[in-house]
Amino acid sequence: MALLEISDIFKAFDGQAALRAVSLTLEQGHILCLLGPSGCGKTTLLRIIAGLERPDRGRVVFDGADMTAVPPHCRNFGMMFQEYALFPHKNVAGNVAFGLEMQNKTPPEIAARVREMLELVGLSGFEHRDIGQLSGGERQRVALARSLAPQPRLLMLDEPMGALDRALREWLMPELRRILKNVGVTAIFVTHDHAEAFAVADRIAVFDRGRIQQIARPETLYSQPATPAVARFLGFHNLLEGRAVSAERVETPVGYFNADGKKFRIGENVTVLLRPEGVRPVSLADAPACEDKMKICGIVREAIFQGPFYRLSLYTETGHELVFHLPCGMPLPSPGDRIVLEPDPSAVVFL
Ligand code: ADP
Ligand code: MG
Repeated sequence: MALLEISDIFKAFDGQAALRAVSLTLEQGHILCLLGPSGCGKTTLLRIIAGLERPDRGRVVFDGADMTAVPPHCRNFGMMFQEYALFPHKNVAGNVAFGLEMQNKTPPEIAARVREMLELVGLSGFEHRDIGQLSGGERQRVALARSLAPQPRLLMLDEPMGALDRALREWLMPELRRILKNVGVTAIFVTHDHAEAFAVADRIAVFDRGRIQQIARPETLYSQPATPAVARFLGFHNLLEGRAVSAERVETPVGYFNADGKKFRIGENVTVLLRPEGVRPVSLADAPACEDKMKICGIVREAIFQGPFYRLSLYTETGHELVFHLPCGMPLPSPGDRIVLEPDPSAVVFL
């Protein structure tokens, strides 16, 4: 049985739906990410799970017990927010000890647990530092230590990296996952950044306008996004509206694409996603006029060096802009060059 079961949650504010029929489950010790653009209802769902907000409909069941009407302080769930909400007048130890004092632990128990938590987050010896002396990354670690100290049954992190710069976030995300896994805490992590979600989550729930679009493991989500909205949100650009012309073939404005093992209805509308990686240039510059409908032909708009690959954008004859990643070893195309690309079957996804 899942540790947390959310079923059919509805919530509206002033007649505006914020959550619509949200259901999900979370296993003990797993990390679930809620991923979606600003305003799609992520924080509202966390607040409902925490008991800070009542749903209009639906249930929150934790460890077999209906929690929907249980007051927040009786749930023993932990919350960590973007702005950390550390107490500026307390030192590091005082902040980490806060939840333990609420639990009426003895001073020696508290001191031992604070030491253990600071060691866990890599801040051993920071007990007596002032909050004002800490860097953003260190504050984030103190906030994590504080929320883990009382051993919450469920930890919710609402965009905890939001205030940090990208380089620091990229460095901290695997660290965060390592710490959460080390403790074995069941966690829900909210973000609008798919790279963060990929780095931390066991499973990701993609939200759009109050609805869950897809829940899946990061690898599955990336390889098979369920809807164009999910694909767009994961940062995929090449989405083509097509139509099935046979059971296995979809015609799009930039060519035909074959699907092995799919069975389309003739005439069915199908969106084709072309992954940026997994195309092979078959010819450059002197490419013949494009007659092969199984290849992608276009005029290079720009090719930008990105380190491990070139980011190539091109315009097809039909005026579609497509973006691909080409390996660095090959000759670099110039703007205005004609180019013909052959997509690997694994680079073509039908939505
Ligand atoms: P997210 O965390 O994904 O950015 P929120 O859950 O904060 O989204 O908000 C979802 C929607 O609900 C938004 O349109 C927001 O304006 C609205 N909303 C959230 N909380 C309240 C509230 N207390 N009163 C009125 N509207 C709210
Ligand atoms: Mg939010």
